[in-house]
Amino acid sequence: MLLPQGISRPLPLPLMPKFFPPLSLHHITPAFNSLIRTHTHNHQPHKAILTYTQMLKTNTPPNHFTFPSLLSSCAQTFSLYIGQSIHTHIIHLGFNSNVYTDTALLHMYSSCKSMASACKIFDEMTQKNSVSYNAMITGYTHNREFSNALKLFSEMQISGFKPTETTVTSVLSACAHLGALNQGKWVHEYIKTRNLTVNVFVGTSLIDMYAKCGSIDEAMVMFDGTRHRNVYTWNAIISGMAMNGYGEKALKLFREMVGDGHVRPDGVTFLGVLCACSHEGLVYQGYQYLAMMRDEFSVTPCIQHYGCMVDLLGRAGLLEETMSLIESMPIEPDAIVWRSLLGACRIHGRTDLSELAVQNLLRLEPGNGGNYVLLSNLYARAHRWNDVALVRETMKLRGIRKEPGCSSIEIQNVVYEFIVGKAVSKEICRMLSDVERELRLAGYVVDTEMVSYDVEEEEKETSLMYHSEKLALAFGLLKIQEGEVIRIVKNLRVCKDCHTYFKLVSKVYRRDITVRDRNRFHHFRGGDCSCGDYW
Ligand code: ZN
Ligand code: ZN
Repeated sequence: MLLPQGISRPLPLPLMPKFFPPLSLHHITPAFNSLIRTHTHNHQPHKAILTYTQMLKTNTPPNHFTFPSLLSSCAQTFSLYIGQSIHTHIIHLGFNSNVYTDTALLHMYSSCKSMASACKIFDEMTQKNSVSYNAMITGYTHNREFSNALKLFSEMQISGFKPTETTVTSVLSACAHLGALNQGKWVHEYIKTRNLTVNVFVGTSLIDMYAKCGSIDEAMVMFDGTRHRNVYTWNAIISGMAMNGYGEKALKLFREMVGDGHVRPDGVTFLGVLCACSHEGLVYQGYQYLAMMRDEFSVTPCIQHYGCMVDLLGRAGLLEETMSLIESMPIEPDAIVWRSLLGACRIHGRTDLSELAVQNLLRLEPGNGGNYVLLSNLYARAHRWNDVALVRETMKLRGIRKEPGCSSIEIQNVVYEFIVGKAVSKEICRMLSDVERELRLAGYVVDTEMVSYDVEEEEKETSLMYHSEKLALAFGLLKIQEGEVIRIVKNLRVCKDCHTYFKLVSKVYRRDITVRDRNRFHHFRGGDCSCGDYW
């Protein structure tokens, strides 16, 4: 008998016989089915699964209608093991190769983060419909396989299946994560021409996509045009404004939201608000909003909110206040909090606190190679060369690797990825040396001191000239015509040298460049950056 991929353990459910004597029991099946369906709809997945075991115990034969709701219960509870057992039953009883059952199976697998099994089922489906395409595209987006979501979306159209509002919501979310503005715009056009309903979910996804692709004006136009706004709609625009560096506008929108009174702000809203305060350096207001969230809206601050506060205080140079906040927090500080503190120490030159932050980072994330580089750089600054060597040695011994720097750029609807250390075309190499020559004339000096001393996430052995965002920028300068914004998305924090380099390119080449790094947006124009050199 065929077993679903990955099954090796004995089944938790009894394997049933192929024939069910006595046949008179067949009429009970619909009653069980409806019970399973009701439990699933009422978000009581455990009861649904229990009902199925009762069905097996009473020798009641399941039919085609039994499995979709049952699998949906497994998806709700992320019960991969039970889902796999049910899959075995389906194969055993010959109920596979049915579009509804197969779609329910692939939805179950993708919800349980087993994308390989979901793909296998989808590929082997003889019959597909828009629902199965939807399930697969949503599965890709939920599992952060955004490029695959976009690929399948184009395949869906070639196959002639009509995308629904659910499809475009997932696709827009994929575009937002990839920073694929052109594809996002294309989806927007598609929604308009195909007369898809712009419901509150689609509207919010459009706002979010434009904001996360750095196109904040378009996000605002979409927001103004959205009549039905829920908390997600407000959150998308408020955090979008804050992330793009428009703190004042984000706070204005928040006041509007509260004044409007229809929608209550939640924890995510306040994250946007605190992030806005941080960008504007509004320390006093930050404390006020933190109190407001607790007292007026009964939202308990979580670690992310404290992370924002640490960022806010650190940015303002109030290192003592930052430390007392960290010490008085009711929750144990996480890596994000320590990393924010480290960022502040880097700007304000506090090596004593830097060491404390890095030690805590190493304790919380012993497998993250970036932290070892931070520690090594810290020792290098203090000329503790033996310690530097020791850290590098530990990394080698433990086999710890760093996440490589990776930048992506979208050109004519294709997303190109550049990974540090990978070979690039001659054309790009030539462009890089041209740019370097031009920038040197404008006074750019590669800060070699920084290569070994500064606390950065990127590997220092690699020449600064080949950091992934520089490769993407060179490619953008070659391929994107003048007057158009060059948009780059980077997986790590932008280093100091790249930041200076990008500012100068924006001035010398008169190009507007937008970089979304791990934390925020940098809009480079005329030699300046929207982040005000604090990031
Ligand atoms: Zn760099
Ligand atoms: Zn910047």
